[in-house]
Amino acid sequence: MEHHKNPVILTIDDEANIRDSFRLFLEDYDYQVIEATNGREGIEILEREKPDLVLCDLRMPEVDGLEVLEYIKKHSPDTPIIVVSGTGVIGDAIEAIRRGAWNYLLKPIQDMSVLLHAISQALERARLIIENRTYQEHLEEEVSRRTEALQKTMHDLNQSHLKLKENEEKYRLIFENLQDVYFEIFPDGMIYEISPSISHFSLYRREEILGEDIGTLFPDRMNRTRLLTLLRTRGIATDYEMSLKDKDGIFIPCSLNARYQEVTGDTPDKICGTLRDITEQKQAEARIEHLAYFDALTELPNRRLLLDRLEQNISRARRHNHYGAMLFLDLDRFKNINDSLGHPVGDMLLKDVAKRLSIDLRAEDTVSRLGGDEFVMLLSDLGTDPIDAAAAAQRKAEEIQHHLAQKYLISGHELHITPSIGVAMFPSNENSNDTGTDILRYADTAMYRAKDDGRDTIRFFLPSMQSAADSRLVIEKELRHALEKNEFSLFFQPQVDQSGQILGAETLIRWNHSTKGFISPATFIPVAEATGMILPIGEWVLRNACQHLKAWSDAGLPIQHLAVNVSPRQFRQPDFIRQVSLILEETGADPSLLGLELTEGMVIDNIIDTIEKMQGLKQLGIELSIDDFGTGYSSLTYLKRMPLDILKIDQSFVRDISTDANDAAIVETIISMADHLDLKVIAEGVETEAELSFLVEKGCKIYQGYHFSKPMPNNQFTKQLQAGSVHV
Ligand code: C2E
Ligand code: CA
Ligand code: CA
Repeated sequence: MEHHKNPVILTIDDEANIRDSFRLFLEDYDYQVIEATNGREGIEILEREKPDLVLCDLRMPEVDGLEVLEYIKKHSPDTPIIVVSGTGVIGDAIEAIRRGAWNYLLKPIQDMSVLLHAISQALERARLIIENRTYQEHLEEEVSRRTEALQKTMHDLNQSHLKLKENEEKYRLIFENLQDVYFEIFPDGMIYEISPSISHFSLYRREEILGEDIGTLFPDRMNRTRLLTLLRTRGIATDYEMSLKDKDGIFIPCSLNARYQEVTGDTPDKICGTLRDITEQKQAEARIEHLAYFDALTELPNRRLLLDRLEQNISRARRHNHYGAMLFLDLDRFKNINDSLGHPVGDMLLKDVAKRLSIDLRAEDTVSRLGGDEFVMLLSDLGTDPIDAAAAAQRKAEEIQHHLAQKYLISGHELHITPSIGVAMFPSNENSNDTGTDILRYADTAMYRAKDDGRDTIRFFLPSMQSAADSRLVIEKELRHALEKNEFSLFFQPQVDQSGQILGAETLIRWNHSTKGFISPATFIPVAEATGMILPIGEWVLRNACQHLKAWSDAGLPIQHLAVNVSPRQFRQPDFIRQVSLILEETGADPSLLGLELTEGMVIDNIIDTIEKMQGLKQLGIELSIDDFGTGYSSLTYLKRMPLDILKIDQSFVRDISTDANDAAIVETIISMADHLDLKVIAEGVETEAELSFLVEKGCKIYQGYHFSKPMPNNQFTKQLQAGSVHV
């Protein structure tokens, strides 16, 4: 297109006065205006003068505006054309735009600035189109220039490949007699050359592997990447170990020496090196390592390996605040057997003992033989509670006692043997710096005490651990029978409003032990949870609570809500929802009066499953609350997604309301958060008037605590319900 100083505008219109008015107006704005009186003439001028823009009427004699559009679309698509028409029919406008009009203005043009704006917009767009086209053309030029250069490079590359091949011939002889494998690869991993000896240990023929990716031979991508990075940054790798996967899929340990060759000029960089099969070397190393770390007779880890693992375990336990245990075993009267039946029999007995100790061993635990008839067992991660951990260690020790006590048949002899077991827990206290050797010594000392106490005995190094573990195990044993012996009962603690009117209650289990009296749920619920006893107990609580609920409703007592505590293990049962719905059906209790108290911990892990389960429970009509709220890790995001009804503020916060500004702030936040999420709030453990007035002031409306009432047995609670409120 020719460039005029001032843009040239062609107006095509059969009405002279329109053309005149356009010309007069546009010339004022420094446009050059040329005119045509109909479409045919317009097309002629268009061809000759190549105007920068066309203003065109639609309805004209001879050739009309649509045909002008048609022409421009075909022969001069970059010329902007604005249709100025008096028809005012929307169909015309659409048709015009469809055929390529850049804009459509209605005659008569009331406000000429609209025309001016349309023109400058169209010209600007046309300018951009042309600019863009020029750029594209330039780009194409550039691309073809570069392509040419690339082709030249490729040609040169081929030439140098040829040269390379020539050189290679010289080394061919050497290659073929090489034990190690010589290779050359490109930095992208493509195998460019490899000596025929590759077939010795990969089973691939050289020709099969050429041109393949190095990953075919070395599938461990991480190791490969590490090697390539090493080569790129340091330029050299020595005795680098990699596993080669042969054609049959068998892994062969290899050692690799390689060098990165940066090539100047047009040939690409390369990595050259050698590869050696180190299977035998590895086997020898393994044999040496085994001898160094394992007991030759029993194949168990020896003292050295044990101490290694023990040290690791101790530091891990300190880091994660959990406990582990060291069990030190000595066989009682082993010397007698050895002396009377001979060493070979003694050895076989030791091997049998080793086998029995390895039964049911968790992967993370270690059994080791220290020598003679001394064995130790390292139990790692027994949990974060010292008493739970001690109880678990004791259980394991009892298990060992039981296993080892079974008779042994060796060379026609029937033998019996018992162990004395010493137990040391680690870390032994919060800020202990005990080493592995220390712990081993503690366990050894405890073992001697077990011997002193008459053999075939288990003794803890710390007497406090001993008694804790003992009483824990006693509880465990008794707990197993408490249900059958009907030793459980339910207490109820009212949940009230400010005036003491009963709105609901929480169910709290009590264990009335035949000799020890009442045992607190705070003591035995964790034990029940750890041993799985919580499942039958929890089911019992739920059933009984529902029975009471039904009985109160039948008696016309105004109970609105009865909450039952659900423990994590109970909640995690896959059929928990079904269990609850069966109990509801069976007892006839009204689900809308039942509430379940869940803890933060149990709802946070596995959030998706949890929410689904909660929704299932909601569908039964049950209310859900979060117990001990504020002590866990609940984030607001999770809470929002959960179908919850109630937050229970943990009593630890309520306790410190008046003394701890922090706790007061937490309580306030919980209340406003619950408000925001449209949840009810129950404050737990309200003991004093001061606590109550703080809570009242902050907008909490439901309270539970000794200030109103302690938990009480059914008959007493029934009376309270009849009265409707508790005394304040
Ligand atoms: P929780 O669910 O937080 O129950 C509240 C505990 O606080 C109850 O102790 C209750 O007696 C006590 N409490 C209530 N008001 C006050 C107060 O004003 N001051 C003080 N200091 N304490 C108050 P309880 O009955 O000994 O229960 C202890 C925990 O045992 C319960 O804590 C709950 O986690 C668990 N538990 C109780 N019954 C069951 C049950 O049936 N199933 C399960 N899974 N757990 C239960
Ligand atoms: Ca509770
Ligand atoms: Ca609670």
